Amino acid sequence: MFQGNWSCSGCNTSIKELPFEPKNTSNLLCRDCHSKQRGGSGGGKSFRPQGERKMVQGDWKCSGCSGDIKELPFQPRETGNLLCRDCFRNRR
Ligand SMILES: [Zn+2]
Ligand SMILES: [Zn+2]
Repeated sequence: MFQGNWSCSGCNTSIKELPFEPKNTSNLLCRDCHSKQRGGSGGGKSFRPQGERKMVQGDWKCSGCSGDIKELPFQPRETGNLLCRDCFRNRR
């Protein structure tokens, strides 16, 4: 396992270790979100809607369109491959 200090792009929770070394830290998923995204069958947990989202203010550049990024829903560890909201969406 790789130790680190990342944030889940789904629920914004902190990720302390991963089974792989992440290259792009802007779209990491914690175990919960990962299993959710795969259509996991575990239905025991109640889903909490996220009312308040902590945004991190900063001055970054989007690696897709070179646009300014003023805030992110997570604290970026690597700033070289950030994506703005538009590019992040277009990517999916
Ligand atoms: Zn998550
Ligand atoms: Zn962009």
